[in-house]
Amino acid sequence: AKANGKDGFEHYSDNVGHMLRRRLQMTSDLSKALKGKELFLDVQPKLNLRDSRAFSVEALARWRHSKLGLIPPDEFIALAEETGQILDLGRQVLTKAMEFIVDWRAAHTSSLSVAVNLSAKQLHDKNLLSDIALIVSHYEVDPSWIEFEITESVVMDNVESSLRLFNALKKMGFRIAIDDFGTGYSSLSYLNKLPIDILKIDRSFIAQLPDNQDDLAIVSAIISMAKSLNIEVVAEGVETEGQYQLLGELGCEQLQGYYFAKPGSLQDYIQKPWSFWQD
Ligand code: C2E
Ligand code: CA
Ligand code: CA
Ligand code: CA
Repeated sequence: AKANGKDGFEHYSDNVGHMLRRRLQMTSDLSKALKGKELFLDVQPKLNLRDSRAFSVEALARWRHSKLGLIPPDEFIALAEETGQILDLGRQVLTKAMEFIVDWRAAHTSSLSVAVNLSAKQLHDKNLLSDIALIVSHYEVDPSWIEFEITESVVMDNVESSLRLFNALKKMGFRIAIDDFGTGYSSLSYLNKLPIDILKIDRSFIAQLPDNQDDLAIVSAIISMAKSLNIEVVAEGVETEGQYQLLGELGCEQLQGYYFAKPGSLQDYIQKPWSFWQD
């Protein structure tokens, strides 16, 4: 026995008990958040080098817990995936994204593009398409203003169902982006088979540019592959002037990252959409 009188198992079971309690608490708190006002969106702009007046943003879910403060999306999205709450959360995210577009239209004449993330569980939800159609038509939003982002690994784990879903979404007029590209080892033949509009290069390949020669080779290969397939390409996680310069030289026309703009409130970006680019 150890000096504190507890053996390894008791420590272990204490920890498990603690984790289970926290998880149960978080699940029930998330249910309350889904009914109340703790969930909201931030948006992060993407810069388009070819057309710097074209405004496009990614919608990012936020949860401000009444006692714990801001909870990182990686944490509550994963929990919501496991519990199935992601379906409700996903509908709320899309609804809030539509409200953002309505507010944008009231303030601007130019168009807007809003990217909304979809998770694996949503992809398998048989009501996904009808829910999307209902929400988008309720706000009379042009589907071409909306992009759905799905990570490469989710697509690769579900090639057939992704193909069906993407075809249906395309038919409805939405655009499709593959998120976190480069981490999921997809083959060229799959890419070509899927009706994809946009590839988002995962930020792990951007982080060590311009110095890392392997990452440089990968990123430039992705950019030229995307171009030859007529797919738009976005670099994620651009944080430095050097990355910005290099990506521009490589012909990557869309850039997202803290170097230009951090995720911020809907109202701020409606009031001053281009300020991040001008200062
Ligand atoms: P993601 O879809 O890859 O979103 C990009 C993440 O990178 C965001 O983190 C964003 O704040 C962060 N980011 C942007 N620029 C930079 C940069 O220059 N440097 C660094 N280090 N990070 C940058 P966030 O908001 O914490 O979201 C994390 C993940 O949570 C998202 O990754 C996405 O997978 C998930 N997520 C967020 N909102 C939703 C949602 O509404 N639905 C679903 N299914 N997932 C969501
Ligand atoms: Ca994303
Ligand atoms: Ca991403
Ligand atoms: Ca990610």
